Amino acid sequence: MKRFEYSRADTPKQAATSASPKEAAFIAGGTNLLDLMKYEIETPIKLVDVTRLELEQIEPTADGGLRIGTLVTNSDLAAHPDVVANYPVLSRAILAGATGQLRNKATTGGNFLQRTRCYYFYQTDSPCNKREPGTGCPAINGENRTLAILGTSEACIAQHPSDMAVAMRLLDAKIETVKTDGSTRTIPVKDFYCLPKDTPHIENVLESGELITHVVLPAPIKGIHTYDKVRDRASYAFALVSCAAVIDVDDSGKLTTIRLAFGGIGTEPWRNEKVEALLTDTDGNSDVIRQAADLLLKEAKGNGQNDFKIPLTRRLLKQVIQRALAGEGA
Ligand SMILES: Cc1cc2nc3c(=O)[nH]c(=O)nc-3n(C[C@H](O)[C@H](O)[C@H](O)COP(=O)(O)OP(=O)(O)OC[C@H]3O[C@@H](n4cnc5c(N)ncnc54)[C@H](O)[C@@H]3O)c2cc1C
Repeated sequence: MKRFEYSRADTPKQAATSASPKEAAFIAGGTNLLDLMKYEIETPIKLVDVTRLELEQIEPTADGGLRIGTLVTNSDLAAHPDVVANYPVLSRAILAGATGQLRNKATTGGNFLQRTRCYYFYQTDSPCNKREPGTGCPAINGENRTLAILGTSEACIAQHPSDMAVAMRLLDAKIETVKTDGSTRTIPVKDFYCLPKDTPHIENVLESGELITHVVLPAPIKGIHTYDKVRDRASYAFALVSCAAVIDVDDSGKLTTIRLAFGGIGTEPWRNEKVEALLTDTDGNSDVIRQAADLLLKEAKGNGQNDFKIPLTRRLLKQVIQRALAGEGA
């Protein structure tokens, strides 16, 4: 591990100011960053510890939503009574990720910013456009079984790894930040991540030194909340394909609300509102589901080993809708 300077911040603004040089990084739970530093994939010269900031609360908002401090651990967020009762899809998504020990340490802000699990990104003796821009992407013709099929580019096919962020995207969450000059801004999760295009090393819209302080959930959405994660092991495994869903069905069997977001298949948490519009107010019959899957996967591109994700996503979509129509999965 390379040498680095370590400091603790007392206020969000102080944290942002201390982390303003490009080579600085915040450390929260450290469950991803420390691995990246040990492998020398990330080599910050300055580490700003944010764990003493008072950002550990979950509070109701005036419009019936929830405001979550960035330091709320994944375990605490998943177990919070308001989240369990009103946002079960979020609770389930978090509990589908990592392990109990990791979730006890991992924070809300850190989870959004965890890096991809592409093998080549972690293998520092191989090229990787995300790690070292301009060096190439061996994954495209190499080991790509776990990698993305949507949102990819000629430069990168690395999948977005987070389960929590998929549920946050589904719920239209917003991220609040403080910048180095003390100004604040709010970024919808849908605008937070950047597609790889020809700059895969730029993964989100945060500026240097910009600190996530909170995440705000809008008022809860009525319906059956589910999170299905297809993976190689029942625990301690990232998604091959996952689907977060909120689905409401009326007495006549019509899909009155349908929201769907996917993990494991995209270079960012993947949601296509046109697919939801196509399914809304239908009875979710097999033809409509097929059309929805066609639309969702219209731009999907496998690279050999990960081709299976295309039919797997189709099947998962069908299962999620048919189960909701049968009143199951609540
Ligand atoms: C073995 C293993 C299995 C895992 N399995 C899964 C899984 O199945 N699903 C899943 O979703 N995740 C999984 N994870 C990832 C885990 O969820 C993340 O490592 C964790 O959420 C990161 O949170 P952290 O607080 O530890 O972040 P850190 O490691 O402290 O930081 C991660 C990044 O976020 C930045 N950061 C942290 N806080 C802030 C902030 N407030 N503002 C701005 N930047 C910030 C840091 O600078 C760093 O770049 C796994 C991890 C491991 C090690």
